[in-house]
Amino acid sequence: MSWELRKKAQALLALEQGGIVKDWGGKISVALVYPNTYSVGMSNLGFQTVYAHLNRLPDVVCERVFFPDPEDLDEYLRTRTPPFSLESQRPLSDFHLVGFSVTYEGDYINVLRLLSMAGIPLRPEARRPQDPLILMGGVCAFANPEPIAPFMDFVVVGEGEEIVGEIVAAYREAFEGLDPAGHKRDAFLDRLASIQGIYLPHAYEVRHTDDGSVAAVVPRHANVPPVVIKRRLKDVNQFETISLLKTPRAEYGHMSLLEVGKGCGRGCRFCLEGEIYRPVRHRSLESLRETVAKIAKDGKRVGLVGACVSDYPWIGELMKILEEHGVEVSISSLRADSLTEDLVRSLKRGGHRTLTMAPEAGTERLRQVIRKAISDEQLYAACHLVRRHGIPNLKCYFMIGLPTETREDIEAIPDLAGRLLDRLRVPDPDGHPFGKLTLSISSFVPKPWTPFQWAPFDEPRSLEEKLGIIKRGVGRFSNVRVLHENPREAFLQALLARGDRRVAEFLEIAARLGGDWRKALREWEGDPAFYTTRARPLDEVFPWDHLDVGVKKAGLIREYQKAGLDLVAADV
Ligand code: SF4
Repeated sequence: MSWELRKKAQALLALEQGGIVKDWGGKISVALVYPNTYSVGMSNLGFQTVYAHLNRLPDVVCERVFFPDPEDLDEYLRTRTPPFSLESQRPLSDFHLVGFSVTYEGDYINVLRLLSMAGIPLRPEARRPQDPLILMGGVCAFANPEPIAPFMDFVVVGEGEEIVGEIVAAYREAFEGLDPAGHKRDAFLDRLASIQGIYLPHAYEVRHTDDGSVAAVVPRHANVPPVVIKRRLKDVNQFETISLLKTPRAEYGHMSLLEVGKGCGRGCRFCLEGEIYRPVRHRSLESLRETVAKIAKDGKRVGLVGACVSDYPWIGELMKILEEHGVEVSISSLRADSLTEDLVRSLKRGGHRTLTMAPEAGTERLRQVIRKAISDEQLYAACHLVRRHGIPNLKCYFMIGLPTETREDIEAIPDLAGRLLDRLRVPDPDGHPFGKLTLSISSFVPKPWTPFQWAPFDEPRSLEEKLGIIKRGVGRFSNVRVLHENPREAFLQALLARGDRRVAEFLEIAARLGGDWRKALREWEGDPAFYTTRARPLDEVFPWDHLDVGVKKAGLIREYQKAGLDLVAADV
């Protein structure tokens, strides 16, 4: 193991506040792995929450593992250092359970690279009795885990707060005394089969039709359910969802992240989060009051987290509580139609220098198609609020490649930017000029469980042309900046988001090629267009149809048709 990498890990630990280091003696060891770098993983509230919950169990030691920073990768490979945990710096293969927390499909390749670097066989059937059991949780696990499912012993479908304790209890019962042996692995998996929200991919056979789509996913044994039902937390007040670990090395590492609730009832037709976290559950003001009091003891900054924080029904009261405790507040993105004077004032007081909104489309017509029904007038009103309260910068999220999008919709984005600028350019009450308008452009990726799951992904070349139109369009303004992701990266996301188990071979090739997924696509025998740019007929069986996240297909079809898209599908 590289001494240099060890030293780096120790330096990271030394910078942290709130880390948990436990003795291993006689405990079940869990490596909680975020398949991206430390700074990305440590900004993830779900990851931090599961870490805290697991470590609260007296017979569990949970430690964190991350994908190496790009500048460290060569050192890992040169010295054959396996991925190791931050806390005790033990290699991944030393743990009883290795749980990947996966938020982005693009990180699937890193999951396999980490297993390879650790010397753990990728496929469960090749693993030895002494190898850890490999599981996956996080939002990708309950959207569509199929491309990566063949590498998992089991998958946690749903919210993790409650279920982690049940997994550990099942492990304890099956392994008595932590003496791993082949048949005990089977005994453990058998026990897991009866827990709602546990998906055992190898207990299901995927059948295909002649055209290559999924015909059915059928249980191989009677002890697994035909449909795996998502696990969801009934009472969100029961579990505090807050980041306890602070580090200057993560984007939000200087503040405590606090979840105000789960789900969003707005129903934007592209939004995965708005669908799969249903029903909407808000934490009570009382429970947040207690949490804020705790936070205020050792921190003065809070980031509120939730699918749509400005829709939290008691947001005004919550802001007052935060103010009473002298805590500064930050919110990542706000709905223009739920902004209030009080909210913007509190954000300004909390040191907010940039207010972020997500109009998503340049025209009201397209916003209606995607059901993000924010009017231009509401956006203008938000600009006035921003200036009135002296917030210097505004950031707006847009998507390109949306269903029914035309050239006019794209050209409307820089035009809208111009009209927003007209309202933003006024000095604030203290006479300070406006700073910058940032347009953050992403490519629309059709996601499972959304009304747009049948829609095609746009061609990367067409997305690049659209980006060109926007960039040229804003070239006439001095203080507008355009940020965007590479449409080819979005293409990878589109392949993995709606892929089936055959896409697992592509992931394996990409991992073998050190993450070079473009080369892997050329080597792979599958057809990426089948998963990406093809519009799906409404009666197609999806690779994720044997999961039930509480969203009815009939409702999604209705929404798809209300968007005017049924004709598109009928043409296929
Ligand atoms: S995009 Fe935002 S407002 Fe719309 S459903 Fe998703 S979380 Fe809610």
